[in-house]
Amino acid sequence: MLLPTEKPTPAAASRVAPAVRQAVAEGLLSEDRPLAGFVDVPGVRESVAALHAAFADVPDVLHAFAAKACPLVPVLRLLRDAGMGCEVASPGELWLALDAGFDPARIVLDSPAKTRQEIREALALGVAVNADNLDELERIDALRPAGCASVLGLRVNPQVGAGAIEAMSTATAHSKFGVALRDPGARERVVEAFVRRPWLTRLHGHVGSQGCPLPLIAEGLAALHTLAEEINARVGHRQVTSLDLGGGLPVNFADDTVSPTYADYVAALTAAEPALLDGRYRLVTEFGRSLLAKNGFLAARVEYVKDAGGRRVAVTHAGANVATRTVFMPQAWPLRVSAYGPDGTPKQAALLRQDVAGPCCFSGDVVAHDRALPELAEGDWVVLHDTGAYYFSAPWSYNSLPRPAVYGCLPRDGRVLFATVRPAQTVREISVESGLARADALLTGFAVPSVP
Ligand SMILES: *Cc1c(COP(=O)(O)O)cnc(C)c1O
Repeated sequence: MLLPTEKPTPAAASRVAPAVRQAVAEGLLSEDRPLAGFVDVPGVRESVAALHAAFADVPDVLHAFAAKACPLVPVLRLLRDAGMGCEVASPGELWLALDAGFDPARIVLDSPAKTRQEIREALALGVAVNADNLDELERIDALRPAGCASVLGLRVNPQVGAGAIEAMSTATAHSKFGVALRDPGARERVVEAFVRRPWLTRLHGHVGSQGCPLPLIAEGLAALHTLAEEINARVGHRQVTSLDLGGGLPVNFADDTVSPTYADYVAALTAAEPALLDGRYRLVTEFGRSLLAKNGFLAARVEYVKDAGGRRVAVTHAGANVATRTVFMPQAWPLRVSAYGPDGTPKQAALLRQDVAGPCCFSGDVVAHDRALPELAEGDWVVLHDTGAYYFSAPWSYNSLPRPAVYGCLPRDGRVLFATVRPAQTVREISVESGLARADALLTGFAVPSVP
């Protein structure tokens, strides 16, 4: 049972409209700058504070932000400043975390396909590593340097089942992640892997992301705790000293309410296994979406409106390029859309059912289907809410569309101050990353191998 807890409305929501108005006034949004992402800086700090407050009774927790949710160096540095660690899952994310200034001891590497070189590098840095499987443990056996400072763990899949979105559920029977704990013989192999490796001191589980209900997450993490107790009983002392709980707190995309909260999460875990948070295990969390989603939004200009088959379509600059999941899985990833006029103030026109489409050249490129919105016109702006995680920070370069600009917002003395997090990509930059320097490669670039 969940304890009834407060459902605070994030202050970030009330800061969207002033930010849009001022971004238009300052020309950050204009005919020539038709798409940008915005991050609410105080909102990010408030979310981090709520996370820390929920775990205040647990003596030793490392809250590691899942870098993939917003892989932008200034955002990561803000999170570090607010007291977070960082969870990374690729060499690129590891370097973003290092460039953001995270102490390697506060970085956790989790990827499912680590190469030997990536493992070597992480161990040399002292970054914590969670092996995904038993074969990876054997690689670590061979690569671990003397006096290695890294905390080393093993990811297990408690196989408790799927949430509402199959693709986001990591604890299904056939999930590619971790050691599938309920498979025949697997539990014994995991226990033996710990018995043979005194340096293996952490268990890792990440039950799922968006769409996983809290009781399912809690059930999976309770199973992680039971396994840790079993391993420690077998080795005869407390070898497993920490549990990495993963992330995955779902985000409410339907309105401005934060639900569930971090306090709900702690209550659900405590209900499933009271000993999980009693302090005998150090804890790591890896939240991503729940820290950033509601602290960011996208604004896109309406370029044209047209009628097709009796349906109004507003063609904007935000489609699959910045809302890939929403476009391809509209039922699983609906977004709230609001309409603003050319001056960046909320649009008051009569409601009309409209499609909000994007700039990509395929007909499914629609971010909102048949949605009642004030009638849109050329030069208006649409805001896509709750897009601070996994949207503008993880664009798709289909049609060679540029990565959009991202700005941080800070309310100050009745106005909004902006800081550029990342400028929009230019067309020249697109050419450069598309092989410009090797333009002749397929005409004259074939080298004759010296050994036939
Ligand atoms: C994606 C991921 C997270 C973060 O998930 P959110 O749903 O963004 O909180 C945490 N841990 C691992 C291993 C992940 O793959």
